[in-house]
Amino acid sequence: MPKIPFPKSKVSRVIAERELAILEKTYPHAVTALHYSNPFELLMAVILSAQCTDARVNLATPALFAKYPTPEKLAKAKQSDVERLIRSCGFFRMKSKNIISASRALAEQHGGVVPSQREELEALAGVGRKTASVVMSVAFEQAAIAVDTHVFRVAHRLGLTLGKNPRDVEQDLQKIVPREQWRHAHHWLIMHGRAICKAPIPRCGECPVNQICPTPKILARSLTARALASAAGAPKPRPRRSVAAKKKR
Ligand code: SF4
Repeated sequence: MPKIPFPKSKVSRVIAERELAILEKTYPHAVTALHYSNPFELLMAVILSAQCTDARVNLATPALFAKYPTPEKLAKAKQSDVERLIRSCGFFRMKSKNIISASRALAEQHGGVVPSQREELEALAGVGRKTASVVMSVAFEQAAIAVDTHVFRVAHRLGLTLGKNPRDVEQDLQKIVPREQWRHAHHWLIMHGRAICKAPIPRCGECPVNQICPTPKILARSLTARALASAAGAPKPRPRRSVAAKKKR
């Protein structure tokens, strides 16, 4: 099924604030789905979650953290052993290298402690802006908005942004969401994206913001256009042979 086009203009600030208020009310206890018990485990889990579901990461990390519970231990791990433990997370060779290298940097440069500053986090192997934002907001309760694929899609469908890349989307969200809510807002959007505003087709009929979100109209137009195109391209029914024609056989 092809993608539904995103709205071409943003909704007004009043509508944007109403949309976000409804999502906040709908997902009041939204938190990360990754399992972790300290900032180091969270950081490792977020690195592993690239191109992988949180559920799959949660299946792999208990054995990884049991064997390598600290940056110092993981820094000394054999790559082949780590690869075996995280194989199911995909891209396991690159991810193994990254978590070992990041652990080595934590052990050698940060006293085995995960830093809370963006610059220091983004200097670690496998850590980009999104991963740093998750660690800052979840582990250290700092104001940061992590833009993943769900946040990108749902923010566009709601008409909160026209941003072409995650950084633009983040900046648009930062202008609408009060700073003290930044660390919660991406969880509302992620949970909504997983539960209702799914890719490729959102379940607008079940959605609590469907009266003010611009996408249901786009979806209806898109589905109607597809239905008409499909009808126009359908093979024409074969003409029925006349009785006279049948008798000639
Ligand atoms: S109305 Fe549809 S497109 Fe808009 S947020 Fe809800 S599910 Fe997503």
